Amino acid sequence: MSDRYVTSREKMVREQLVSRNITDERTLAAMGEVPRHYFVDDAMGGRAYGDYPLPIGAGQTISQPYIVAFMTQSLQLGGSESVLEIGTGSGYQAAVLSKLCRRVYTVERINSLLAGARKVFDRLRYFNIRSKLDDGTLGWPEHGPYDAIIVTAGGPEIPQPLIDQLADPGRLVIPIGDRHTQGLELLVKKDGQVETRRLANVRFVDLVGEYGWSGK
Ligand code: SAH
Repeated sequence: MSDRYVTSREKMVREQLVSRNITDERTLAAMGEVPRHYFVDDAMGGRAYGDYPLPIGAGQTISQPYIVAFMTQSLQLGGSESVLEIGTGSGYQAAVLSKLCRRVYTVERINSLLAGARKVFDRLRYFNIRSKLDDGTLGWPEHGPYDAIIVTAGGPEIPQPLIDQLADPGRLVIPIGDRHTQGLELLVKKDGQVETRRLANVRFVDLVGEYGWSGK
């Protein structure tokens, strides 16, 4: 897609992603393609490609580009997968995923954010994204099992419904910890076994729901 931020995007990919440990070519291509500025307020336009998270309203944030790329890369998508995202927010992470798999299912609990994200999906013609308003800690059982699951809010533990709705083989990435800092955990399901490892220290907004934190 050609727009006034093509150069900002190329610079973001080079300086924030390639220079660190993002090596997956498909992830880099998707990050270079999705117009991140569509997912933040117009007033923030130029800052959309900066090396930091940004507010998206309702007390929520869009993750720093590097974190989006890092989580995306950890899912090892090949193109044919069905992916579940919890925490649609601005819709940016879902948009990046939509370039890398067959279909994205995304769940958001705040109506105003979901409505905003849906508008952008339509504008950009990202037709392989399905979304709904709900408590995503319950997953989205109707469309499972999912080859990959990504949770973009931090919770106290991995919600059991998500582990149940993950295919075998399957990969699930989620920030787990207290309300201030979390470890980004990768759960890999294979041959009926589940293994979890910690990839990085991160800081995310709260995962609020039945298998997350209780609402404030
Ligand atoms: N992936 C988003 C990040 C948004 S921040 C993006 O690219 O912009 C995390 C989002 O998770 C917030 O919008 C928050 O409302 C949402 N969230 C928190 N708990 C949730 C839950 N139980 N179900 C669905 N969404 C949830």
